[in-house]
Amino acid sequence: MKRIVILGAGFGGLQATIELDRLFRGRTDLEVVLINDHNYFLFTPLLPQIASSYINPRHIVQAVRDIRGSRRFGFRRDTVRELHLDRRELVFDSGAVPFDYLIVAPGSRTDHFNVRGAKEHTWEFKTLEDAVVLRERVLDLCEHADHTSDAAERRRMLTFVVVGGGYTGVELVTELHDFLFRYIARRYRNIAPGDIRLIVLEAAPEVLRGVHPKLAQHALKRLRVEGIEVRLGARATRCFPGGVEVNGSEFIPSETLVWTAGVRAHELVEALPGPHDPIGRAIVNEHLQLDGHPEVFIVGDSAAALTAADAPRIAPVAIAQGQIAARNIAHLERGEPLESYRYVAQGMLVSLGMNHAVVNIAGLRFSGYFAWLFWNALHLYKLVGLKKQLQVAIDWSLGMIFPRDASIVRRPRRCRLCGTAEESEIPN
Ligand SMILES: Cc1cc2nc3c(=O)[nH]c(=O)nc-3n(C[C@H](O)[C@H](O)[C@H](O)COP(=O)(O)OP(=O)(O)OC[C@H]3O[C@@H](n4cnc5c(N)ncnc54)[C@H](O)[C@@H]3O)c2cc1C
Repeated sequence: MKRIVILGAGFGGLQATIELDRLFRGRTDLEVVLINDHNYFLFTPLLPQIASSYINPRHIVQAVRDIRGSRRFGFRRDTVRELHLDRRELVFDSGAVPFDYLIVAPGSRTDHFNVRGAKEHTWEFKTLEDAVVLRERVLDLCEHADHTSDAAERRRMLTFVVVGGGYTGVELVTELHDFLFRYIARRYRNIAPGDIRLIVLEAAPEVLRGVHPKLAQHALKRLRVEGIEVRLGARATRCFPGGVEVNGSEFIPSETLVWTAGVRAHELVEALPGPHDPIGRAIVNEHLQLDGHPEVFIVGDSAAALTAADAPRIAPVAIAQGQIAARNIAHLERGEPLESYRYVAQGMLVSLGMNHAVVNIAGLRFSGYFAWLFWNALHLYKLVGLKKQLQVAIDWSLGMIFPRDASIVRRPRRCRLCGTAEESEIPN
């Protein structure tokens, strides 16, 4: 029995699995096994709306077992520790799984660029847990700020710094803006809008690199109109528990620094043999195969395809590469020529909070309310499964009528104000 293993149930890995299931359905001599360290698929584009309490965390994840056709492929919830390509096996704490073909799609990780204190004193924003704990962190600080009599202390607690003005940083800061101004400032009697400060630090001279310059300019203007301080050419040079040093001189006091600035390939990918690009992604040929290992395909955020060096690290690229890797395995099995991956830019959509977005799609560029409606419609359509689509649509509708949910259902993960430092789990 031949075994095709897919590492990672994100956009690339899941798409590859679905495609393999379609291509090899009915083949009893071949097994498809998907491996992921948690048992759900996460729809990352809606993560900022978890941090702002707009939607329920469970509504943007889909259990792998609920994905259509999941009984036809194997699934193992486990963490891969090592990839042994020569022995053709993936190693876990509890053993190893051999493979004949492998699709590697473990996504990426945060790069703190060796900035002192960044790893220890900033909040990452990549996973569902990151978004959940950030939401609770924001609420926790608002609770403290509401009863402190020290105005400077209150201001420091209510200053939120986002390091990185890419689409994740921009979407996050605009969501936080909605949450803090539309909800918090109206309900916490001792917090005035003037106490709240939102800052974006971007080392480059512009925000939203990769987005059409006119739309990026529009977004910058919009952020500033909303009162968000966007500092361009501003590099976080050192991070502390109570603030951040900018460009080696200025110090901004803040209890919450969120790091969205840098991305690197996963450690497992960086450890693979063969060439890598400057951010550690494995350089693969046009068929997405690893040099010297035609049975190993790399897709998504982990891959730097020779034919698509300029492809951004976004979901549509991972999805397209997942499909091609799956089809190329089928071609290898049938002795057919392989397909090549070419990056075709499909456009870019960036939400700027409630009622505003910028959209660049199919040669059309627009912004404002209709762009926001388009952003919502497209993301709803792309969510996996009707149940999740309905849940998110209902969350959005309720969010327009009723206040957001400000309950803190567990102790914050770290809060030096009330002396909490332990780790805790996502609440039920
Ligand atoms: C906050 C945020 C917002 C984003 N918004 C957008 C957006 O609006 N539009 C867009 O197109 N893109 C967006 N992206 C980027 C998009 O999520 C990625 O480009 C895409 O997820 C890459 O797909 P992938 O398959 O390579 O990896 P992922 O989707 O990250 O999946 C990797 C999977 O592998 C698992 N894994 C990792 N290591 C192991 C291991 N050792 N063992 C087992 N499993 C492992 C992970 O848990 C994960 O499930 C966003 C990303 C973030 C973080």
